[in-house]
Amino acid sequence: MNCGLLGEKLGHSYSPAIHAMLADYDYRLYEKSPGELADFILRGGWDGLNVTIPYKKAVMPYCTELSGTARRCGSVNTLLRLPGGAIRGENTDAYGFSYLLQSLGFDPAGKKCVIFGSGGAAATVRAVLAEKGAGEIVTVSRSGENNYGNLARHADAAFVVNATPAGMFPHNGGAAASLAPFTRCEAVADLIYNPARTALLMEAEDLGIPCANGLGMLAAQAKRSAELFLGTDIPDGEIARIEEKLSREMRNIVLIGMPGCGKSTVGKLLAGALGREFCESDALVEREAALSIPEIFRREGETGFRKRETAALAELGRLSGAVIATGGGCVTREENYPLLHQNGVIVRLLRRLDRLPREGRPISLQTDPGELYERRRLYYERFADFSISNDGTPEETVRAILDKL
Ligand code: NAP
Repeated sequence: MNCGLLGEKLGHSYSPAIHAMLADYDYRLYEKSPGELADFILRGGWDGLNVTIPYKKAVMPYCTELSGTARRCGSVNTLLRLPGGAIRGENTDAYGFSYLLQSLGFDPAGKKCVIFGSGGAAATVRAVLAEKGAGEIVTVSRSGENNYGNLARHADAAFVVNATPAGMFPHNGGAAASLAPFTRCEAVADLIYNPARTALLMEAEDLGIPCANGLGMLAAQAKRSAELFLGTDIPDGEIARIEEKLSREMRNIVLIGMPGCGKSTVGKLLAGALGREFCESDALVEREAALSIPEIFRREGETGFRKRETAALAELGRLSGAVIATGGGCVTREENYPLLHQNGVIVRLLRRLDRLPREGRPISLQTDPGELYERRRLYYERFADFSISNDGTPEETVRAILDKL
């Protein structure tokens, strides 16, 4: 059976990996220009297709039949070649978004909902919310009557969904809007899954509002598409399994801790054990500046170094699946936290202070380690998801981290 993903520019798609976890059909990426679309749909040798940007509407005229959901959503993300050559258009994003709502534990019935964006995904979100009995549903568009300049009109919204690409890799840190106007917000969803936590989701976390990214939706729509391709049911538990696996593979492991606590040694070993890329923020700072760290401190002071360090962390924090060793003092700048947290689990390494080497480390040379530790302790605690002792061998530390993860 020949299946695949049809789009204009597919870049790095997770779909082949997800479908490989679901079934053993052939699943390829089909990048087609608008001029190639008709011929590929009508005569390409496919049995089942997923469809993505910008063709979710464009493929509809080629469908000999449409599911009710596809009609209600006004878009098709799954095509099936039926016996006899007819083409059926389905929308499994709707199933995916229903799954997202369920895993978020949010029931929209009777509740006012705000959707950022007016594209294909926003239309699907609107259709699902309407089907589930949501109260008023507001679409916010940059050029619409409801726009980002008058969000305060909707302060009473209980649910905010981002269905725009604002904040998606490589534009990490951006957001269509802040949650500040939504003073009665009960839940937030962002259809983006790279980064795992967009600025919008991190804002929701800070406010203590339940939130979810789009990875579960991606896995759920794929599972539903695979069921349609195969004509069989696949257990719902597969969705959580795929989501969990992808989320582990995509997240960075970020090491923080006092200067000399072993972040580089442990990081290299950990990356080797997991077959992952290893990066060091200090090395990136030195490369970008073409100067050693002591030289940067001499010329630009700690302020200049910290500015360079934040720029390096912004670049490294956007990666997926990397092991990242940070500089000991990066935790003293709050703006570094979202850069590391957006895609990462943050592990703090603890090492006895009398074992910390000080040579070549400008701050350690000037300050007593006990005093430095006391000054930074709360910052390390603020950043860390968990702490691991590195007083044994580096191999023992790596094992302890892997056990904890
Ligand atoms: P789309 O059809 O291109 O629509 C996106 C909409 O976002 C546009 O209509 C536009 O609306 C708004 N927009 C675009 N750039 C913006 C910006 N810089 N700032 C604010 N608003 C902007 O795309 P789509 O298919 O709906 O997808 C939207 C997002 O959902 C994408 O990030 C996509 O990856 C994600 N998605 C995820 C899943 C999943 O399974 N998790 C499934 C589908 C889509 P206005 O011009 O009206 O403002």
